[in-house]
Amino acid sequence: MPITPDQQAEIDAARTDQHTTMRATVPGMEAHLYKAHEVLDHGFIRVIDYMGDDNAIVQAARVSYGRGTKAVQNDAGLIRYLMRHWHSTPFEMCEIKLHVKLPVFVARQWIRHRTANVNEYSARYSILDREFYIPAPEHLAAQSKQNHQGRGGVLEGEEAARVLDILWADSNRAYDHYEEMLDQDGQDGLARELARMNLPANIYTQWYWKVDLHNLFHFLRLRADSHAQYEIRVYADAICKVVADWVPHAFAAFEDYRLGGAQFSGKGMDCVRRMIAGEQVDQASSGMSAGEWREFQAVLQG
Ligand SMILES: Cc1cc2nc3c(=O)[nH]c(=O)nc-3n(C[C@H](O)[C@H](O)[C@H](O)COP(=O)(O)OP(=O)(O)OC[C@H]3O[C@@H](n4cnc5c(N)ncnc54)[C@H](O)[C@@H]3O)c2cc1C
Repeated sequence: MPITPDQQAEIDAARTDQHTTMRATVPGMEAHLYKAHEVLDHGFIRVIDYMGDDNAIVQAARVSYGRGTKAVQNDAGLIRYLMRHWHSTPFEMCEIKLHVKLPVFVARQWIRHRTANVNEYSARYSILDREFYIPAPEHLAAQSKQNHQGRGGVLEGEEAARVLDILWADSNRAYDHYEEMLDQDGQDGLARELARMNLPANIYTQWYWKVDLHNLFHFLRLRADSHAQYEIRVYADAICKVVADWVPHAFAAFEDYRLGGAQFSGKGMDCVRRMIAGEQVDQASSGMSAGEWREFQAVLQG
């Protein structure tokens, strides 16, 4: 269960607390504040706080004294210009703080993004809940035959049932032993900081994660991408929806230039020019490796 009834009551109470401020607020973001958006079987993302809006990006770019806006059209155009030319620091003027509940093996990928501030639930201090990520049947993928880092078809029938049984049994057995080892009910047990080493990587952890918009876009560019593992991609997708409501112009520019756009190498550009000139270009004449050529073709074909 991503959120217990008690936790939901805390969220509801937090949402009745109102403040007046001269700072910029965004209606779309106020609607998200504190609410849990469910991800995977027990996970979520929640917006805890945010700073800035599309206008803050424009203000910083113009180093203006007041709101600093011209026409909305101009602001959107300026934001697109900044994104197009990799002028990144104005985007760093916006920040977001998220509460994320996620499986430990997803957290290991996520934490590689170093340009954020993180505070994680302490399993030295507290006892972790018995909550494991168990893939939904449609995500019980087989190992890809082509890509060592990817997935092939979906496991079915007896094979799927066997894998699910193993996941359930091992997760629960490890947790049973975790509980047995802990210093609970007056017994002299093992310290929490040691007992946790027996827990599986699909157990859920939680953290507060604060990041500026530039580095968030970098994270989303990598993790909302089809090459990212499904289990982190669904978190990135959920964050994308929030960011679209927070800074719609900046997100539209990001979607267009980064998520929807592509970067070509010098060889790639040369091939594109030759193709436009009507030349038949193949891998042999492209100067690219087989892998590069495959990826180039995939970009061209969409
Ligand atoms: C599809 C995919 C597959 C991956 N596979 C692997 C893998 O097999 N093994 C593996 O170990 N990782 C893997 N990674 C992780 C990847 O290599 C990066 O560690 C991760 O994406 C974080 O990127 P980053 O360092 O750019 O982000 P951040 O840490 O947020 O950094 C952002 C930028 O800040 C700068 N920066 C930050 N810290 C430093 C620093 N200390 N020194 C210099 N510059 C810095 C860099 O320019 C960096 O690009 C994979 C990632 C993806 C998306």
